[in-house]
Amino acid sequence: MPTTNRQWKLAARPKDLVTPDVLQLSDSPLLPLEDGQALARVKYFSIDPTMRIWMADIPQYMPPVQLGEVMRSFGLAEVTESRNPSFKEGDKLVGFTGLQEYLVVTGKEPNPFQKAPSIPFLSDSNFLGTLGLNGLTAYFGLLDVGKPKSGETLVVSAAAGATGSIAGQIGKIQGCRVVGIAGSDEKCKWVKDKLGFDTAINYKSPDWKAQLVAATPSGVDINFENVGGEVMHGVLDRMNLNGRVVLCGLISGYSKAGSSEVDPTLASFGNILMRRLRVQGFIVIDYVSRFMEAGQQLGMWKMTGKIKDRQTIVQGFEKAPEAINMLFQGSNIGKLLIQL
Ligand code: NDP
Repeated sequence: MPTTNRQWKLAARPKDLVTPDVLQLSDSPLLPLEDGQALARVKYFSIDPTMRIWMADIPQYMPPVQLGEVMRSFGLAEVTESRNPSFKEGDKLVGFTGLQEYLVVTGKEPNPFQKAPSIPFLSDSNFLGTLGLNGLTAYFGLLDVGKPKSGETLVVSAAAGATGSIAGQIGKIQGCRVVGIAGSDEKCKWVKDKLGFDTAINYKSPDWKAQLVAATPSGVDINFENVGGEVMHGVLDRMNLNGRVVLCGLISGYSKAGSSEVDPTLASFGNILMRRLRVQGFIVIDYVSRFMEAGQQLGMWKMTGKIKDRQTIVQGFEKAPEAINMLFQGSNIGKLLIQL
């Protein structure tokens, strides 16, 4: 059994991106297991934009991570040793691992770990992306909140990311015209040519708003919003009367979370009024009781090739701070993971 555990702890609250003073790498002792405990070694960390929110001391859907605590993260860990009959060596556990190499589990955690089944054609890492929180977010956000109808026009921002790429493909399965918005020509080509979006627009092109007008001749019925700010303004300008905004995320403002700067997303409220839009925020954990239903459907779509995915995998535990920043620099395509 290993005797030390490397951990990333929150040492300072970030002001913008994650600078070297924000997370501190430290060793802590691993004590021999007691009855009722199992030891698991992390194989993959899910790198998620919400980690930047968790670092900020602001009101949010979970308590902020406190200074000195192991940084919260989602991940997949494999049981290496067990003195608990509910866990056996080789079990794959998905849940809040924290940014650390090892964790001791008891089965009595407030957010219990789920066991990832072994299914042919699915890799362990799929349980952190398409079949994990991102796929579930896309599923419930689009189907429950967005309520798409065949023939409607759906716009998805951060379209080449873990959540957006799945939301757009579910939109296609529902018969929508799907327009993606992403930050590079390579990303736009991927969602259009490989994922089957009807078209995709690079929001870094100077004429992207004109391209959006051309791509949405009948206006926009559903906006699956992942970004906020300028991108959101542009899409709200194209919304049809009584359109729906699935408020999934506002990543353009996250690196300022905890600062006193006014989020430009608020400037969109005029359009919400004039176009009588229904804007609904949601957090995927609201749907825990239905995760099984969604997981089965997503698994079926994945295995039958109806949804495709991609991963950006960073190697090495020590890369965690850089990996978190990659999300805000648009350096990932598909699901961003760290592999240990
Ligand atoms: P992604 O894999 O989509 O990665 C984030 C992407 O956001 C980047 O690759 C980048 O792509 C884009 N981005 C970053 N900064 C900006 C910016 N300033 N302007 C425009 N685009 C930007 O991450 P996720 O799929 O994990 O998350 C996507 C969104 O979904 C986030 O807002 C997240 O908070 C939200 N989310 C919400 C959940 C919920 O329960 N409501 C659960 C999970 C995620 P590009 O190159 O295109 O700029």
